[in-house]
Amino acid sequence: MTFPQVIDHEYAGTKEIIATLVLDAEGGYALVDPGPSVTLPTLRAKLLALGIPISEISTLLLTHIHLDHAGATGSLVRENPRIQVYVHERGAPHLADPTKLLSSAKRLYGDAMDRIWGEFLAVPEANLHVLNGGERLRVGTRTLEVLYTPGHASHHVSYLDTSEGTVFVGDTAGLRLANRPLVSPVTPPPDIDLELWDASLRQIEARSPAQLFLTHFGFADRIDWHFAELRRRHWVWAERVRDSLDGAADDVDRMAGFVLSAIRDFRGILPPEECVLYERVGGLELSWQGLARYWRKKEDPA
Ligand SMILES: [Zn+2]
Repeated sequence: MTFPQVIDHEYAGTKEIIATLVLDAEGGYALVDPGPSVTLPTLRAKLLALGIPISEISTLLLTHIHLDHAGATGSLVRENPRIQVYVHERGAPHLADPTKLLSSAKRLYGDAMDRIWGEFLAVPEANLHVLNGGERLRVGTRTLEVLYTPGHASHHVSYLDTSEGTVFVGDTAGLRLANRPLVSPVTPPPDIDLELWDASLRQIEARSPAQLFLTHFGFADRIDWHFAELRRRHWVWAERVRDSLDGAADDVDRMAGFVLSAIRDFRGILPPEECVLYERVGGLELSWQGLARYWRKKEDPA
């Protein structure tokens, strides 16, 4: 078997929206973003189909700690306490004590949170390896360079696999499902910062990567085009949200108008049944909220 292998969580019965990447490591295997715990049974079954029980997972490489990427971390460590977890220094405290993270997520998802994402268990501090960016990690025969890539989240890192020139970008490169010709921003609260995000994209571009690996979803090529599209749409969305804030409508109506405009954009590029996938993963209402917060913070930094 050759690595990396992509595991599709088939989240909510839908193919190609949430992925985990499997790498061969020294004395075991590494997972990039284990995904939410609600699809842990799928992850477990698909790993077993590759001949990999959880007891052979040695390493989790987290891009960031949002529930769709890192929700299963604590459950996996409980099952196999040998697992070492790599995470940015700003994310690590929230894995050790997820109280704040979960109450912030609960504001976004309400009472549906557990049903949507499943449990989020704390990770013992002894299992955590704190990253700042700039580290070089040895994973099997690979050397991964850690890039600090804030913008989507203040604690987001990406991993450059120097052997193949692939960057595991988490959500830093937005959404592009199964290499389709549509790149969508994904800008949920609370950390969105478009200037920092642009600097993160430049940092990745400076490595001239051969391909990207996106959690949503899979390997993506034509990186120059991809990043240009993402930047363009970031600012189109940001301006729409800023304009919406100037109007007299309330936030519910502002959000609804924004969602419709984004869907109209998507439908100009992809058939409706494929647009629905982007709507489902992207959480367009959350993206309005994240950008509204970005502008309101600029106006009133306190
Ligand atoms: Zn995500």
